[in-house]
Amino acid sequence: EAKKHGRNRYHFFTAELNEAVLRIINLDKQMRQALKEKNYKLYYQPKVCIKTSKIIGAEALIRWIDPIKGFIPPNEFIPLAEENDFIIELGEWIINDALNQYINWQKIGIDISISINISAKQFLQNNFEDILIKKIKDKSINPNKIILEITEYILIDQTDKVYLSLKKLHDFGINISLDDFGTGYSSLSYLKKYPINYLKIDKSFVDDMNSKNGKIFVETIVKMGQMLDLKIVAEGVETIEQLQYLKSISCDLYQGYHFCKPLSAKDFEEFYKAKN
Ligand code: C2E
Ligand code: MG
Ligand code: MG
Ligand code: MG
Repeated sequence: EAKKHGRNRYHFFTAELNEAVLRIINLDKQMRQALKEKNYKLYYQPKVCIKTSKIIGAEALIRWIDPIKGFIPPNEFIPLAEENDFIIELGEWIINDALNQYINWQKIGIDISISINISAKQFLQNNFEDILIKKIKDKSINPNKIILEITEYILIDQTDKVYLSLKKLHDFGINISLDDFGTGYSSLSYLKKYPINYLKIDKSFVDDMNSKNGKIFVETIVKMGQMLDLKIVAEGVETIEQLQYLKSISCDLYQGYHFCKPLSAKDFEEFYKAKN
């Protein structure tokens, strides 16, 4: 009896495992196919100066728009793309597309910076920084207008390679922004050691600003960051109260649904013209 039960359980787990494996293999294939079929699109979320309420930049956020399944959010495929290395190829497409968008906007007088999210795998590939610097040179782009959003995950190993890559990018004029700051691996020593220009306070801390401790936490990050000559960006700002508090503690920039959701390039253009 026990044996029979055990065998059934074994079959059960195998079937379930097969299903999970199949789903991943399918997603893996579809993800690559989607690039060939041009089903990825970059959306752009405005980055706003808190003092002036002007749009001074845009963060590129990838969307996978499948003709059958519809809209697939990045959290559902970026982690897998990081595991199976597809992020290298996809990341290259993202960089090219975002840089071209930057150039097109410059041509029509939309003078803003572009932030590009770079995953750890992508950043750690050989010569990442040289390839990017060459692209920016070839396209005659002002590197000061380009911001790379990286996460603390890249910094945990504290290797010379990461330091040297960041320094090369930074010396060339490209800006480095530490995304999702405060979550996960935070170590304040990163801020001393690495050439960083922006800190992005994670949405979870912005959400927490209705409590006294939450407020103190955010104010402390802002003050400390500014003393280290960093610009502070608050992400995921959804309410006027959050914005007012951020203004009262002189936070530099914000993004969030309160101002605007990520938009297609075309919608961004219209929104920008109406606001700036
Ligand atoms: P992230 O870089 O921290 O981006 C912020 C996320 O918060 C975005 O989600 C954005 O749409 C969302 N968001 C912005 N304002 C608000 C708000 O007021 N309320 C709420 N609830 N959400 C807000 P999205 O676009 O789904 O991207 C999720 C994550 O996927 C990103 O987090 C980033 O880690 C990754 N990702 C997105 N695009 C790319 C990309 O092009 N390359 C790489 N490597 N990763 C990307
Ligand atoms: Mg980001
Ligand atoms: Mg973020
Ligand atoms: Mg995030």
